[in-house]
Amino acid sequence: MTGLTSKNIAELQQLMAELGEPKFRAKQVFSWISRGARPEEMTNLSKVLREKLATLHFGGARIYDKRISTKDGTIKYLFELEDGNLVEGVLMRYKYGNTLCVSTQVGCRMGCAFCASTLNGCVRDLEAGEILSFVACAEKDVPCEEGRKRSVTNIVLMGSGEPLDNYENVVRFLQLVSAPEGMNISPRNISLSTCGLVPQLRRFMKEAPRVTLSVSLHAPNDTIRNTIMPVNAAYPMAELLGAAREYAEETGRRVIFEYALIKNKNSEKKHAEELASRLRRMNCHVNLIPLNHVEERNLMGVTRKDAEQFMGWLTDLGISATIRREMGSDIEGACGQLRRRVLEQQEGNA
Ligand code: SAH
Repeated sequence: MTGLTSKNIAELQQLMAELGEPKFRAKQVFSWISRGARPEEMTNLSKVLREKLATLHFGGARIYDKRISTKDGTIKYLFELEDGNLVEGVLMRYKYGNTLCVSTQVGCRMGCAFCASTLNGCVRDLEAGEILSFVACAEKDVPCEEGRKRSVTNIVLMGSGEPLDNYENVVRFLQLVSAPEGMNISPRNISLSTCGLVPQLRRFMKEAPRVTLSVSLHAPNDTIRNTIMPVNAAYPMAELLGAAREYAEETGRRVIFEYALIKNKNSEKKHAEELASRLRRMNCHVNLIPLNHVEERNLMGVTRKDAEQFMGWLTDLGISATIRREMGSDIEGACGQLRRRVLEQQEGNA
């Protein structure tokens, strides 16, 4: 059973009816949860109701550990769930506000060759309310700048896990986090990143809030993509690019393609040319990522100069591209790295 933090207002109204409480309590509880309060802190409710709520499964998170980058102020969080599982989140500070990167699963089962999140497989899906709790934790942790309503203004679903492999909970999270009675973060300020589960992506297009779509492409063709992303065997690039193109057309929003440059793999001129030809006439942008070296993985990144050259090849061919700013490289900012380090330490101490 999912926890109190995962319930929407209609479900909370139903719960209040079952508990013999007036309907308006539902919005009060929803608003408290959105601010990261636990039942005992919901001070405008009766003591009896607070006690009743405290007996239910809550589904919250707390900050277990945090590291702050001395380079750029990026904060890497390790959140602890009620069952003791640990998941990562990263808060990136920009001029226009703060972007929180959240995880959607404990671990991941997609098996990408360059990614640390997937090394131990997927332990479990996160509940919608658990993901919401990460946002509430970060919001409480970081003071809001003067003149702003919130400190976390943007969210990216780019932490551990494949969001479309946890479809129902992720769509519910998007509905909860964008609800006007709660955090009220617009879908325009939210990005979802997927490795390319095409059937789920097509369903998402029809029923979910219209967030920005990022697709982790990392290759210009199936031959290369097959060697680094097992998901490509099930949903080859033509299908994935077809669905992405449709998403761009249907939503009128630019689709972002993530492309990690890997030495001797996908970073030559011919790869840029092939990529450009496949993305032609699509409303899209390529985000070139300097590969974060993961100790357990035997893949090398490219130099800054090579990344700039690759970007030049793409832009000369009419494809909009930029190189992602590396943030928090001193605090193991890449997916799954911090959690792994802590789990290893715990194992070492046991
Ligand atoms: N499962 C989703 C979201 C999580 S990964 C997805 O695949 O998109 C978030 C992004 O980080 C993806 O683009 C992923 O490919 C990238 N990534 C993972 N490991 C990386 C590494 N070592 N260096 C650079 N980017 C990496």
